[in-house]
Amino acid sequence: MHARSVIVVGGSLAGVRTSQALRAEGYDGRLVLVGEEPELPYDRPPLSKGALRDDDVPVLLTEADAVQLDLTLRLGVAAAGLDLADGCVVLADGDRLPFDDVVVATGSRPRPSPWGTPPGVHLLRTRADATALRADLRRSGHLVVVGAGFIGAEVSATARALGVEVTLVDPLPAPMSRVLGADVGGIFTELHRRHGVETRLGAAVADIESTPAGPRVVLADGEVLPATSVLVGCGALPNDDWLRSSGLEVADGLVCDQHCRSTSDERVHAVGDVARWWHPRHGESVRIEHWTNAVEQAAVVAHNIVSPDRPRAYAPVEYVWSDQYDWKVQLVGRTLGAPVRTLGEPAEGRFAVVYGAGDGRLGGLLAVNWPRAVVAARRAVAGREDIEALVGALQAVGSRGR
Ligand SMILES: Cc1cc2nc3c(=O)[nH]c(=O)nc-3n(C[C@H](O)[C@H](O)[C@H](O)COP(=O)(O)OP(=O)(O)OC[C@H]3O[C@@H](n4cnc5c(N)ncnc54)[C@H](O)[C@@H]3O)c2cc1C
Repeated sequence: MHARSVIVVGGSLAGVRTSQALRAEGYDGRLVLVGEEPELPYDRPPLSKGALRDDDVPVLLTEADAVQLDLTLRLGVAAAGLDLADGCVVLADGDRLPFDDVVVATGSRPRPSPWGTPPGVHLLRTRADATALRADLRRSGHLVVVGAGFIGAEVSATARALGVEVTLVDPLPAPMSRVLGADVGGIFTELHRRHGVETRLGAAVADIESTPAGPRVVLADGEVLPATSVLVGCGALPNDDWLRSSGLEVADGLVCDQHCRSTSDERVHAVGDVARWWHPRHGESVRIEHWTNAVEQAAVVAHNIVSPDRPRAYAPVEYVWSDQYDWKVQLVGRTLGAPVRTLGEPAEGRFAVVYGAGDGRLGGLLAVNWPRAVVAARRAVAGREDIEALVGALQAVGSRGR
């Protein structure tokens, strides 16, 4: 009888957590983790925060952990394709790894810079990217950040703490306004300005030029921003290209059912940034690029591989955090609808904003330095409570109650 084999492709958070969860669920067959990056898996959130100061990046799995898990590591080699007819993962070095189940955990990558990456222009996804950006920031000077999403806003805050001059540029009217809306995003504009960040919001970039003195960012209105370094943070794309020849349904991520199994082949599962699955509470397919999602989804995928006759649907309440200066920013649920109520004191850096779902129901919550509001919101969103019930709960705990 052949031993069962699970191949996990993608050697980072989602892949590591799925491997660990498989063993915790009692899976005792062959387990292989394939990762394109040559180094041991590490955590990414510090790359836009502390790691730009001190290169301190926690490892997610040591060699000893792998031995203890009876997990075979194949690091430094990419998966090039999936041969479903033969039941094999095909590696870039030509090796073929037979599987009974395969977990796709290949994450995402930065959207490429439309203006290229001449010297001094950075993208940020890997530890090597952070090391290169840190070296530039050490030389101080002037950083221009193109893209005021979460990563652009965090790098701006970290660079200011290092004493670097920062200009933050985005065609949208405020930082993170795609997620928070323009009005709430405006609170973050003020935060960054208070910390000395120059802003060019509502301003499109026409070009990034390379000069002997460093890169220059040219805005559509003709203004030129000289820089010692530039960070381009314009979102991310799922690493699903290697699946295109497999015949699996791929559409901005590997398309899966509510059990995180490919809609095309039940032996194929997806987890983390690359997974697009049917979210039963939202009634639509979603893809989420958040740390906590990768962790929670890994547990469900592992369970569904070990117990396919009792599969669990995956219906998380979205959660993401961000650290900017002394603000601990936390988002729960969906904040894409209209903000309906602000509680606490934005000027004091301790507040929450409740968002509707567009149909009068509760969507989600932004909390700044207010962890108890986050606990209440997770409960309220999961329980489909209405907006007033959450507002009442927040008033009861009070913004001073940490
Ligand atoms: C700078 C930065 C800061 C962040 N900060 C936060 C934060 O504060 N809060 C938060 O909630 N989230 C944050 N995130 C998001 C969070 O880190 C991701 O959601 C998380 O890393 C997703 O894990 P993953 O394993 O799905 O994907 P990834 O971390 O992208 O890992 C995928 C792995 O698969 C490998 N791979 C890709 N293709 C192949 C292939 N064909 N074969 C083999 N291996 C392959 C990649 O090399 C990579 O190692 C941040 C992300 C970044 C980049």
